[in-house]
Amino acid sequence: MIAEILCVGTELLLGDIVNTNSSWLAKELADLGVSVYRHIVIGDNKQRLKEAFETALNRSDVILCTGGLGPTQDDISKEALAEACGRKLVRNEQAAQWIKSRYIDKGFALTENNWRQANFPEGATPLFNPFGTAPGCQLELAEKVIFLMPGPPVEMKPMFAGYIKPWIQARNHIVLKSRVLRITGLGESAAEDRVADIVASQNNPTIAPYAQYGEVIFRITARADSEQQALNLIEPVELEMRKRFGLNIYGADDACLEGVVVELLEKNLLTISCAESCTGGLVTARLVNIPGVSTVLKEGIVAYSNEAKITRLNVNPETIKKFGAVSAEVAAEMAEGIAQTSNSSLGISTTGIAGPEGGTLEKPVGLVYIGLFFKGKVSTKELKLFNRSRDNIRKRATLAVLDLVRRTILG
Ligand code: ATP
Ligand code: MG
Repeated sequence: MIAEILCVGTELLLGDIVNTNSSWLAKELADLGVSVYRHIVIGDNKQRLKEAFETALNRSDVILCTGGLGPTQDDISKEALAEACGRKLVRNEQAAQWIKSRYIDKGFALTENNWRQANFPEGATPLFNPFGTAPGCQLELAEKVIFLMPGPPVEMKPMFAGYIKPWIQARNHIVLKSRVLRITGLGESAAEDRVADIVASQNNPTIAPYAQYGEVIFRITARADSEQQALNLIEPVELEMRKRFGLNIYGADDACLEGVVVELLEKNLLTISCAESCTGGLVTARLVNIPGVSTVLKEGIVAYSNEAKITRLNVNPETIKKFGAVSAEVAAEMAEGIAQTSNSSLGISTTGIAGPEGGTLEKPVGLVYIGLFFKGKVSTKELKLFNRSRDNIRKRATLAVLDLVRRTILG
């Protein structure tokens, strides 16, 4: 079963709204084992939409269309579809009654335009929409099927879940299963390089890499007749990848780095406190994302000024004078200071130049030091996050700290 997603709306083309329908539907279809070959976006233009339907009907089995079902003149999806398959638009009495009751229920006046929502290409079955007034519809043509759904996600999602998903499930018996492996400490190309031979030689499962904010993600996807068969296909590939990446893999599927860190702290009965300068609380905030973190997180201090580093964290003023606030030495004293003053097993620190101003030749924007105090020892790490935005530098420094904690606990 090959599907195509067609989203209608000039506002999507202009970038005024983000096409979340497309990504949501694509994920749903992937879970159902349906191959999606194309995402198409068309403005509110009848001719171009008609052509898009014609092309989609030539190459896909299932066409899922969202948007353009409303009552206004720019809502032209049904007209375009009717023209594309040479059918008339005809009034559906049940839909007309339903629209009437919806408007009366909501206390709106019915205008002539509203009746357009009761018209469908001949042969189509209306799909009722409990969360809005625009009904969708399903049109089956020989071996093909087209579903029209409303644009607003709150209306589209229940329509998909209520009608379309069961329709597909009853017809498609292929199962698609994915395993996601999450990697830190390697760039995308270095990560890809390490498994290039497996990626090239595989087509079931397929292996697809993605990179985001210093993390690399590999999605291993298998298609089979049953879930168990799909899992059996994934297993040996996953094992081989785990062997090659070792500690670089921090988790699988929906795992997040802070979640893994909190779990490790809990398991090892450790506590942590954070002394943050350039990350300004991001490390602490990510830890706080995890419910139940209170058993391991003691405190987080944003020690931005030199004064705060000295008075709150017992950083020696001489160290700042000698090496500068952005230095491995200060990061080390910050980490030790927060661990000692908070009586935590681990203390972490960040200090760096997040930019865009304030860089020098010697200490350019993107130079960050992170520190970790654990079991009486301090380790520091220099990060060279050059040519990046302030936001990116801070997020990557945060990731690096969390990863350092993870690797340190794992030994
Ligand atoms: P309505 O009856 O509300 O007019 P409609 O089916 O005609 O519904 P559109 O007019 O195309 O849908 O879109 C209505 C709104 O739905 C858009 O302004 C936008 O907020 C949201 N929307 C439409 N398409 C998408 C999409 N692909 N992704 C996310 N949101 C969308
Ligand atoms: Mg509309």
